[in-house]
Amino acid sequence: MTPIHLVCDFDSTLATSFVAGDMYRDHAPPEQVAKLRMWFLDGEISFRAYQEEVFDLVDQSTAEMSARAMSGTSVRNLAGELFAEIWKHGGTVTVASAGLNFYIEPVLENAGFEHVDIACGIVLSDPAELPPFRYDYPSAGKSCIGDWVTCKCEVIRDRRQGCDQSEIIFVGDGLLSDSCAARNEADTVFATGRLLEFCNENGIEAIEFDKDFGPVLEYLVKKTSTNGDH
Ligand SMILES: [Zn+2]
Repeated sequence: MTPIHLVCDFDSTLATSFVAGDMYRDHAPPEQVAKLRMWFLDGEISFRAYQEEVFDLVDQSTAEMSARAMSGTSVRNLAGELFAEIWKHGGTVTVASAGLNFYIEPVLENAGFEHVDIACGIVLSDPAELPPFRYDYPSAGKSCIGDWVTCKCEVIRDRRQGCDQSEIIFVGDGLLSDSCAARNEADTVFATGRLLEFCNENGIEAIEFDKDFGPVLEYLVKKTSTNGDH
C-alpha cells in the first residue's frame, strides 16, 4: 500500500500546552520577554532570534527545564494509538517543531514515543550550563521565506523522498512554518487554532481536530482499511 507518514507539530498540538512558554514563564523577566515578543510581531527580529533571546534570559539550565517539561506536560489523547497505526502500516512519525530539543525530547520519552523522529532547534550547551546557550538548527530550510528554526516543508519533502505516492499527513495549530507546510507541501491537513483559521480563510482543505487526535486516527483507519492493505 501507499506509505502514509505523519508530520506533527509539538507545542499545543502533540503537547496539549505551549511548553516553550511553560519553560520561560516565571523564569525570565516578563517585561523583557514582552519587549522581544513585540519586536518579533513587528517583524524587527525573526522567530529564531526571538526564541534565542528569550531563552537566554532564563534563570535555569536546560537540565532543569527538561525536568519541568517532563513532569508538567501531557500529550494529546489518542497520540499513542495514532502513532501505532502509522507504524503498523510502515509509515513514519516525525515531530516537526520551531521549538527546542531540551523540552521536546523529555516529553516524548516520558510518553514512551522513542521511535518518533524529531526535527527542531538544538541547544548544544552542556545540560548543566546556564544561558546564554549555543544553538544549532539542523532542520532549517533554505527554500522557504521565514527564519523559523525548522522548515516543515523540508521535513515533509524529506519524508516523501523516494516515493512520490506516499501520503503526508500534517497536523498543526500555528502560523509561520505550520501554515507554509499546510499550504505548500502536506497532502492532508489536520488543524486546530490559528492554523484552522488560516486554512479556512485561504481555501486550504483542512480537517478540524480539538480535544484529541480522534479525527486523525479515524481518517487513518478508514484509509488503511480501504487502501488494499492485506
Ligand atoms: Zn515552507
